[in-house]
Amino acid sequence: MAELNGERAGVLRERNCARVIQALRRQGLASRTDLARVTGLSRTTVGSLVAELHARGLVLEEADGRRQGGRGRPPVLVRLDPAAGVAVGIDFDHDRVRVALADLSSTVLAEDCVEIDVDHSASDAIDAALEILAALQASAGVGDAQIVGAGVGLPGPIDRRTGTVGSAVILPGWAGLPARETLAQRLGMSVQVDNDANLGALAEFSFGAGRGLSDMVYVRLGSGVGAGLVLGGSLHHGAVGLAGEIGHVQVRTDGAVCRCGNRGCLETVAGDAAIRALLRPARGHDVSRQEVLELVAAGDLGTTRVVGDAGSAIGRVLADLCNAVNPEVVVVGGELSEAGEPLLAAIREAIDRYALPGAAEVVKVVHGELGERAELLGAVALVTRGTAALALIEEETFVSFGGAVGADSTARRPAGRREVLHAEAS
Ligand SMILES: [Zn+2]
Repeated sequence: MAELNGERAGVLRERNCARVIQALRRQGLASRTDLARVTGLSRTTVGSLVAELHARGLVLEEADGRRQGGRGRPPVLVRLDPAAGVAVGIDFDHDRVRVALADLSSTVLAEDCVEIDVDHSASDAIDAALEILAALQASAGVGDAQIVGAGVGLPGPIDRRTGTVGSAVILPGWAGLPARETLAQRLGMSVQVDNDANLGALAEFSFGAGRGLSDMVYVRLGSGVGAGLVLGGSLHHGAVGLAGEIGHVQVRTDGAVCRCGNRGCLETVAGDAAIRALLRPARGHDVSRQEVLELVAAGDLGTTRVVGDAGSAIGRVLADLCNAVNPEVVVVGGELSEAGEPLLAAIREAIDRYALPGAAEVVKVVHGELGERAELLGAVALVTRGTAALALIEEETFVSFGGAVGADSTARRPAGRREVLHAEAS
């Protein structure tokens, strides 16, 4: 019995450590008093937890520069030691793979990108990611033991119950693949997988245009049309990870057949391929995405009109979404968002026209602040903060962090995480 109580006390202490770490991830620099307030723990408990984290090499202490010169000792502030571990972020888009190494403050240490057909062979795409990762580790001098985990973005819906790619038509080479398990085995580390639009949402919410807000819609306009929803401060995935798939909302009953098998989906009207197909006859050749952006920037009337019409169709669907979830901001990201104001103005106008006046009044439509790296930064954030922070506490799986201090490579494999067990099974 006493042993059991001891075990419980250990779990409780680890959870409280995770709470302090989570607070430091959010606050950056904090005094012990701040930490007690934010975590709801007593000042004494916080003091003892900080001492433990300090001994484990996870936090640094520094004097509060703002208070020097006053009477008495300046208060000591605590922050996470960014050097305590390295996070891997991998973003698979349809036609390229990006990989980044970041410290635990989410500062990117090294990143690279290669163009490859991701859709048709998961194994080739994973090989490419591994190759980039090895090169980045070599150039940044990061050893395997320093890596605490990887966040991975995929351009299709992920069934969160299984970590499996849910749709054969959207990502044919990955359909039914247990992506999280496969990636954990290949990378040899703890892996979290999410849909790319969700990661863009997480990044803009954590570091970009959605900072400090709690209800946000992120629309990703790239090769597809998708959205990530932040509701009440958390990413919303839905029952099987399909929340935010606005590209497949039907907007024309007799429209073109979509890759999902339905007709007249938003993507067939306002997606990248649809925009380029509309421009082809007038331009007399296949128009690339880059060329679309250049034509809009040069003020080409036809291209600006086509992009504006796409914005209207997207805004019409977003108007219904605004009625449904009442966001404070719609952040427009993805490569096509570089079309800028002609696109954003059309989205804004459609929301103003079709959403409930109260919902339309409150919502701002803004350009993403993180550009085409949003999804990659979101993948990093999966490891360093974001949803993982709360999940860590809920799952009592403190902490992919714990191992960062130990030279022993088994130390970075916290017990009880399913994806980690998969990694060990390899
Ligand atoms: Zn569709």
